[in-house]
Amino acid sequence: MVTETLNPFGIAQEQFDIAADMLNLSDSLRVHLRVPQRELCVNFPVKMDDGSTRVYTGYRIQHNLARGPTKGGIRYHLSVTRDDICALAMLMTWKCAVSGLPYGGAKGGVIVDPQALSASEVERLTRRYASEISLVIGPEKDIPAPDVNTNPQIMAWIMDTISMHKGYTVPAVVTGKPLNIGGSEGRNEATAYGVVYALSEAARHLNMDLSRARVAVQGFGNAGANTVRMLYELGATVVAVSDSRGGVYHPGGLRPDALLAHKRHTGALGGFAEADAISNAELLEIDCDVLVPAALGVQISADNAARVKARLIAEAANAPITPAADRILSDQGCFVLPDVLAGAGGITVSYFEWVQGLQEFFWTEREVNAQLERVITGAFQRVLHVAQAHRVHMRTAAYMIAVQRVADAVTTRGIYP
Ligand code: NAD
Repeated sequence: MVTETLNPFGIAQEQFDIAADMLNLSDSLRVHLRVPQRELCVNFPVKMDDGSTRVYTGYRIQHNLARGPTKGGIRYHLSVTRDDICALAMLMTWKCAVSGLPYGGAKGGVIVDPQALSASEVERLTRRYASEISLVIGPEKDIPAPDVNTNPQIMAWIMDTISMHKGYTVPAVVTGKPLNIGGSEGRNEATAYGVVYALSEAARHLNMDLSRARVAVQGFGNAGANTVRMLYELGATVVAVSDSRGGVYHPGGLRPDALLAHKRHTGALGGFAEADAISNAELLEIDCDVLVPAALGVQISADNAARVKARLIAEAANAPITPAADRILSDQGCFVLPDVLAGAGGITVSYFEWVQGLQEFFWTEREVNAQLERVITGAFQRVLHVAQAHRVHMRTAAYMIAVQRVADAVTTRGIYP
């Protein structure tokens, strides 16, 4: 029986420690990089439709600013905690560094179930939260983007709120905006494209034919549903998918358009006529070749890792696998594409959006996707090279590259004053 921490920030620090040990990182750099640089917690009132007022708690946490402005999504979820956001901010630092993007990591979140609010309540909550965190965000400081339960419309409200404060339009304060106000072509599908580019490289390395693979995807939102569609279009058989309320399974294959239509009609995947109902836990253990966790963190731990049957896992979600599970999966020959690599498509195209916004010069979707493929395949090859050279799995290799890059930036800049 393995005892392990399931605290997200504890997990993030453990993953960092593994890479720091491999790199023989100095104690002073370890202490510096193990904790976030800045944390803002805000408790703010929102007027509800019925005239009452509710106070919500939110965060914006910046892990490290050495390589540039910080960047990371904003999450609306009842499970949001300070530790969760610290962990995700740290992870964003490594994700940016692995792909060579000139950013540090940040993350934001509000403890709320947006599905329980009206659209105008979500707008008022968003504008007030944006106002509260305007102290620390900005095109040269920290640039939010969508994450779980946030979307382009919410980014538009944040951009508008900050622009109203300034008195002029500030498109580069967020990414993942709608196209008509400075968004980038390809941003919506970017996380999924990143997953698919990384999977294609891994499949080539493993001599696996993706077009014949049986795949299971946990989570059916921006990252999950787009990944399902793209893998289906490549010829893969999608045997199982799930959302927060459970999943569906059909060994003969599910059609993404029918799943989407069902979800749009009923609000959930459950009850889809052509498939059997399964739980989220069962989905992770389903008989398949490729598994894509694309929902929340801490899904595969020492408890269930030995029952995972997939040969290849691509982490679209942030932090779905614990360090103890990493070891079990590696021992059973499962190749894991870590979040900081497989999940980097969104941040990469967010970077392209930020660059396009600052230059006011916009690219075609074809240009965006070609540049994205270049970044992800280049990162995959660098990580694979380090993994093979040091006989470590892909997460540790990715962290070794990222931590070294950030440590070098910190060292070169020196300590002020
Ligand atoms: P989303 O809100 O669009 O979708 C989330 C999906 O997960 C929904 O289908 C929801 O029903 C499902 N879900 C929620 N709780 C679940 C649970 N306990 N079990 C199974 N499914 C559950 O969010 P998203 O943007 O697709 O983000 C999904 C994951 O991908 C997150 O971990 C996020 O951090 C990560 N990610 C997103 C982006 C991005 O650009 N959106 C980029 C990189 C990583």
